[in-house]
Amino acid sequence: MRDTMENTCVIIKPDGVCKKVSGDIIKRFDSEGLKLVAMRMVRPSKETLEQFYAVHKGREFFEPLIRFMCSAPVIVMAWQAENAVAKVRQIIGATNSKDAAAGTLRAMFGTDGRRNVVHASDSAANAQKELAFFFKPEDLMKYEYGDWNK
Ligand code: ADP
Repeated sequence: MRDTMENTCVIIKPDGVCKKVSGDIIKRFDSEGLKLVAMRMVRPSKETLEQFYAVHKGREFFEPLIRFMCSAPVIVMAWQAENAVAKVRQIIGATNSKDAAAGTLRAMFGTDGRRNVVHASDSAANAQKELAFFFKPEDLMKYEYGDWNK
């Protein structure tokens, strides 16, 4: 089963950090069985974010999205599980917080289409590209939960 093990890139956006729900978001992924393998708080530059969201360049929401993502620090994480990409997308809910299913993170903590508290990769290939913006390969930790008790 290990061949389906994936990493996904999750970012607690400025609204999540500033609303002080980072702990709730991290707790949710922990309790849903995903493993945290990297985490850092950063204030990405406009240039980094323009590259990160390059696929949306030209869309009407692009410029406000970049301004929003620059407005406060974010917390970037790598979460690992079998089918982590699909699992995390399920947990966060639809892009527009107002359309997100009850119980999803965006429904619980988000505001609207832009201020939706959390980013998560939409494919394993994109996860690798996104994580590379913030982490070196050796930053992704390898460990087992029982390690501390050996
Ligand atoms: P997702 O984050 O669910 O994968 P997208 O990749 O389509 O969604 O969009 C990236 C981000 O751009 C969204 O998370 C959201 O912050 C913003 N966004 C997307 N669509 C809109 C929109 N119609 N209006 C405002 N912001 C949007």
